[in-house]
Amino acid sequence: MLIDTFGRRAVDLRVSLTDRCNLRCTYCMPAEGLDWLPKPNLLTDEEIIRLVRIAVTDLGVTEVRFTGGEPLLRPGLVGIVAACAELSPRPELSLTTNGLGLSRTASALREAGLDRVNVSLDTLDPASFHTLTRRDRLADVIAGLAAAETAGLRPVKINTVLMRGVNDHEAADLLGWCLERGYELRFIEQMPLDAQHGWDRSTMVTAEEILARLGERFALTPEPDERRGAAPAERWLVDGWTMADGGPARVGVIASVTRPFCRACDRTRLTADGQIRNCLFAREETDLRGALRDGADDAVIAALWRAAMWGKKAGAGIDNPDFLQPDRPMSAIGG
Ligand code: SAM
Ligand code: SF4
Repeated sequence: MLIDTFGRRAVDLRVSLTDRCNLRCTYCMPAEGLDWLPKPNLLTDEEIIRLVRIAVTDLGVTEVRFTGGEPLLRPGLVGIVAACAELSPRPELSLTTNGLGLSRTASALREAGLDRVNVSLDTLDPASFHTLTRRDRLADVIAGLAAAETAGLRPVKINTVLMRGVNDHEAADLLGWCLERGYELRFIEQMPLDAQHGWDRSTMVTAEEILARLGERFALTPEPDERRGAAPAERWLVDGWTMADGGPARVGVIASVTRPFCRACDRTRLTADGQIRNCLFAREETDLRGALRDGADDAVIAALWRAAMWGKKAGAGIDNPDFLQPDRPMSAIGG
């Protein structure tokens, strides 16, 4: 098992499949992109599948989420998902994506064994979409969402980051739009993980503000804490709304900065170049790619992974005065 000195157990593996992206969200990347990882440093599809197998069969991982960068840019994605779906015990498989190209791939991903998707969508206004992502692709994202729903990748979840003066006035509109379509919306507080180091605590939109804006149009009831488990999102039931299956409609807020959930964290992360990170905000990594390529057997890899998780810190401490942003940006860690 992957346990740490605070007694937490990591069962949720985030796998970054690439650091590249076809959008340039301002809270994530500069307009010109980044120095992408050199190709020889990237794990091959076979190496990724082997590491996921070790995580699932030897280390107790039960959920695997593919992310990036933009994971749909990885040519081998469908094959990777199919191989992971054959593992025993079979892990839950999900994908975090910006949705570009999802309209073409959703059904193949579903057939390969993908269970769910989280699609990032910050605005319903094409001009604001261009301001936020520096690309005119809103229609593609909306088409991708519809395709995911049709393919059965349900419940389709949407991740939204609000930026002051750009899309913060859209919180309630986004919730209404998602409720009408049966998508589950989760707001994420903006974190200091952008490559440009432009994050500013004094201007970020807080969970409290998001809830106040939603409260102007919707009646929200907090979901009991015991339903939260290790999930980072605090969730609210939206009174008067139901999902397509008749269950209650919800909205989530991931308050990573103002109400961090580190005490219940159950995550372990694998970067596209084969490094284990025990936290999004870790400043150290453990190299599994070198061990893999030096011929290490599964037991050695598993031992390195366990040791990497054992040293996990109590919390990310974003709000602490001595907080230091990690060297890698979110897109290279795997969000
Ligand atoms: N490209 C995919 C996408 O956008 O969904 C997957 C990778 S992206 C890094 C994963 C999630 O992280 C997205 O929902 C994105 O909005 C979020 N994200 C990126 N930078 C962030 C930041 N500085 N603070 C909070 N969330 C961020
Ligand atoms: Fe790309 Fe996702 Fe970062 Fe936006 S948040 S630039 S879609 S990796």
